[in-house]
Amino acid sequence: MRTELIDELVAAARERGLTPVALVGSACTTSTGTYDDIGALADAAARHQLWLHIDGAHGAAVRLDPDRQHLTAGLERVDSLTLDFHKMLMAPALTTGLFFREAGDQYRTFQQEADYLLRESADEPAAEGVGQRPAGWSDIAKRSFECTKRTLSLRVFTLLSAYGPEVFRDYVVQVGVLGRELARLVRQDPNLELFMEPDVNIVCFRFVAPALPVEQRSAVNELIRSTLTQDGRRYIVQTKIAGQTYLRCTLTNAFTTSGHLQAMLREVVTTGQRLLDLRAALPL
Ligand SMILES: *Cc1c(COP(=O)(O)O)cnc(C)c1O
Repeated sequence: MRTELIDELVAAARERGLTPVALVGSACTTSTGTYDDIGALADAAARHQLWLHIDGAHGAAVRLDPDRQHLTAGLERVDSLTLDFHKMLMAPALTTGLFFREAGDQYRTFQQEADYLLRESADEPAAEGVGQRPAGWSDIAKRSFECTKRTLSLRVFTLLSAYGPEVFRDYVVQVGVLGRELARLVRQDPNLELFMEPDVNIVCFRFVAPALPVEQRSAVNELIRSTLTQDGRRYIVQTKIAGQTYLRCTLTNAFTTSGHLQAMLREVVTTGQRLLDLRAALPL
């Protein structure tokens, strides 16, 4: 996000009679794994008295990696944060956490009337001290858009109890190492182009052999992806960046090795070359 534009955009919105209510930043974006400057967002939210939400569904967990903590600097200042434990914290889907800096805020969002279900209790929304049971903890319907809801946090609690917190850190560190390794391998191959040095375990790249005309890069990369995916041994997704198709990998298996990544890239390149040979044989 171009945070330097926030002041003028908020002013322009207010001039048009609109009421900005919140800033929403990404940590990180799903497509490229890019982090917004949370500190700058928190400053802007304070200046304009806006709610600050950070979508950390994929990437807020990098906070556990000592080498990457800077990516989420300022996270402690946000009003609310989403964090998917099924993305980088090894829980099965769907295990989403929604965190509030002020515990009482989670009640204000979903206030509603349902006399058969919800009763006022004197102790909520109450300030909550460290280690205390949250006020109204047993009535999760008051804190959720849904009514019937699984106790998702039980999975996280189970992982924490069984393995301790280190396993999460080790995992986050390791998938980050794999992201850097894939980027390194892509940079080594003149037939491949890296979109950006990855911040995290999301890596975008594409096949760009010299014989491949620039205007056919997107179509050929889409064909490479569908060929590899249909083959069934590998799963790559694709994304569009400034109108161009890139191949995209999210490295989520900590037991992936550099050998696996090399084999995958070899297949990307040989598939691309095969498509180029075909194109030369049949003018497509
Ligand atoms: C995966 C993802 C989502 C969607 O979350 P689900 O809970 O898996 O549906 C939202 N935002 C970001 C940044 C994501 O990576």
